[in-house]
Amino acid sequence: MEEVIVLYPSPGRGHILAMVELGKVLVKHHPSFSITILILDTQNRANASTSQYAASSTAQYMASVNATTPSITFHHLPPISDVPSTSPAYESGFLLPRLNNPNLHQALQTISQTSKLKAFIIDFFCDASFEVAANLSIPTYYFFTSSASSLTAFLYLPTLHKKLDKSLKDLNDDVLLDIPGLPSIPASEMPKNMSDRSTKVYEYFLNTATHMAKSNGLIVNSFDLLERKAIEAISDGLCVPDGPTPPIFSIGPLISSNNQDGENQHECLNWLNLQPSQSVVFLSFGSMGLFSAKQLHEIAVGLDNSGQRFLWVVRNPPPNNNEEPNLDELLPNGFLERTKERGFVVKQWAPQVEILSHGSVGGFVTHCGWNSVLEAVFSGLPMVGWPLYAEQRLTRVVMVKELKVALAVNESEDGLVSAAELEKRVRELMDSEAGKEVREKVSAMRDAAVAALEDGGSASVAFAKLAESWVTTTC
Ligand code: UDP
Repeated sequence: MEEVIVLYPSPGRGHILAMVELGKVLVKHHPSFSITILILDTQNRANASTSQYAASSTAQYMASVNATTPSITFHHLPPISDVPSTSPAYESGFLLPRLNNPNLHQALQTISQTSKLKAFIIDFFCDASFEVAANLSIPTYYFFTSSASSLTAFLYLPTLHKKLDKSLKDLNDDVLLDIPGLPSIPASEMPKNMSDRSTKVYEYFLNTATHMAKSNGLIVNSFDLLERKAIEAISDGLCVPDGPTPPIFSIGPLISSNNQDGENQHECLNWLNLQPSQSVVFLSFGSMGLFSAKQLHEIAVGLDNSGQRFLWVVRNPPPNNNEEPNLDELLPNGFLERTKERGFVVKQWAPQVEILSHGSVGGFVTHCGWNSVLEAVFSGLPMVGWPLYAEQRLTRVVMVKELKVALAVNESEDGLVSAAELEKRVRELMDSEAGKEVREKVSAMRDAAVAALEDGGSASVAFAKLAESWVTTTC
């Protein structure tokens, strides 16, 4: 009987890509396993967090994986039409898999009838499936697509909940939280979704953390040398003081190979070919990062005044963010003309992995999404952290204080980053002693990342251990 591992990503682009990469590496290390990836249909999703450009690039990617890796198959679950249109994005992120539980149950049963289902690996948003799998006695693992550092905070949430008698958002600004494996962190830097006890999403987070602690294992896209403290805190059981912690498998860095092919090379790569080595700062803010017109204006002025070479991904402000931006209207008068010798603006979506690994790029202004951070580390690029949503503020604290691979931008009270602030940070990154220190640190991390992926490196050891745990399990 065929041995199958079932993967269940949440629909966000970063989540699907990371899970597909996990599947690809699993079959590379263990060719005897087949991988089935269950896809949740986002068509009727009320608050589709993934924008159209990200969704179409994800669909292309799945088609190419389908064509090139026969042992990976995608199974689309039937679409769900009744996700309430009023649910906040994060809530519907948990709700969609919950509504899909009957379809999931059926899919898992069908797979079990014809194959040996060795393991079920789920995204944390797909937590509702934990109970479905438990009822079918299928060993379940969580694949956490963010950092080990945010996983510590996540696992520690039930403990924090018991220790404190109020929501994090109601603590004074100067209260510092001591979470095992993390530097002391101001409550205000914790993910918003963990900050308000009265919300549904907080309840989902709490339940998910509790289930994770009961699962068969935690798979995290990180590597030991990058996040040693956080990984040790988890494996030493410090984040779940009330009970056992499942094994943690640090299988990273998994970098998406979702690159454009040579024939369709994006014009920004041709432009990069003409720039001096390590001279360009790249600005990109994930699959969902959006700015107001005012903020875009400030960025443009900051780049203009910095005198640095730059490559910048620009999207329309909401609600027209899926429409191609009109750069002449959006950016300050004369900006494109003034900077045409040293700047390149890409509309909506850029081939980020290729850009970051291009020799002309020397720095990265990032929203601190974990995939972006790993991609930059893998290319040895120092960063300026400008977090926008989810756990990115926490990630930035770790990047700046603990890993020392990034500088931070200062936002004003209303969240705006001024032109002067951006100019200062970009100069600092590209041309200062502080920038140099960060560059050296991240360069050492790049070497460690490469070593983690070599035969006998921490990632291959983690993959071997993971597969070992499946060899003995049957259901
Ligand atoms: N990305 C890209 N082009 C863009 C913006 C983003 O290829 O213009 C990719 C980026 O390389 C990364 C992913 O989208 O792999 C974003 O994931 P991340 O975890 O950094 O952020 P999220 O989108 O989940 O907030």
